[in-house]
Amino acid sequence: MRQAPAAFQRGHDHDQCVHDALNAAIVHCRQEGTRLTPLRRKVLQAVWRSHVPLGAYEICDALVAHGERVLPPTIYRALEFLENNGLVHRMASRNAFIGCNQPGAHHHGRYLICSACGLVAELPAGDNMDRFIAEAHALNFEARSVRVEAVGLCAACAAGGDSGP
Ligand SMILES: [Zn+2]
Ligand SMILES: [Zn+2]
Ligand SMILES: [Zn+2]
Repeated sequence: MRQAPAAFQRGHDHDQCVHDALNAAIVHCRQEGTRLTPLRRKVLQAVWRSHVPLGAYEICDALVAHGERVLPPTIYRALEFLENNGLVHRMASRNAFIGCNQPGAHHHGRYLICSACGLVAELPAGDNMDRFIAEAHALNFEARSVRVEAVGLCAACAAGGDSGP
C-alpha cells in the first residue's frame, strides 16, 4: 500500500504544502504569461488554508478577517482567474474550491473526499481517465472536463482517530 496523500496525514507540514503550491503557481503564471497579482495570490493562499475545500463566501470572510478591503466581486474575479488557470479547482459537488499543487499538468480531477473530516486529496490523472475520455471521443462527444470524486473515509477517520482537519 502506498502512503496516504499529504492531505490525509494529520500533522503534516502544511506550510510546506502552501509554500510548494505558491511556488508552482508563480512558475505556472510565468510560463503562461499571466499575472499572479497580490490579490490573486492572497485568494490562492486563503484556498490553501487547509485541504478542506472553501466556499467563495468563506474565502471572502478569510480575506476580510485579514484586513483586506476588497469587495466580493473582486474576490470572485480573482477566483475565476485561479480556476481558469488551473491553480484551484471547483468541487462541483460542494461548490467549494480546492488548491491544485500541479497547475498546468495534464490532469483531470480525481478526488478522494473524506465525508467525516472533509479533507480532500487530488490525485493525478490515471490511465482509466484517458480511456474514459477516449471512449467519450469514440462516441463523438468532446469531453472537456472529467471529474471523478470518491467519497469515503480517510485512514485516520476510518481508524476512529482525531476527526478534525
Ligand atoms: Zn498540506
Ligand atoms: Zn489539479
Ligand atoms: Zn477523514
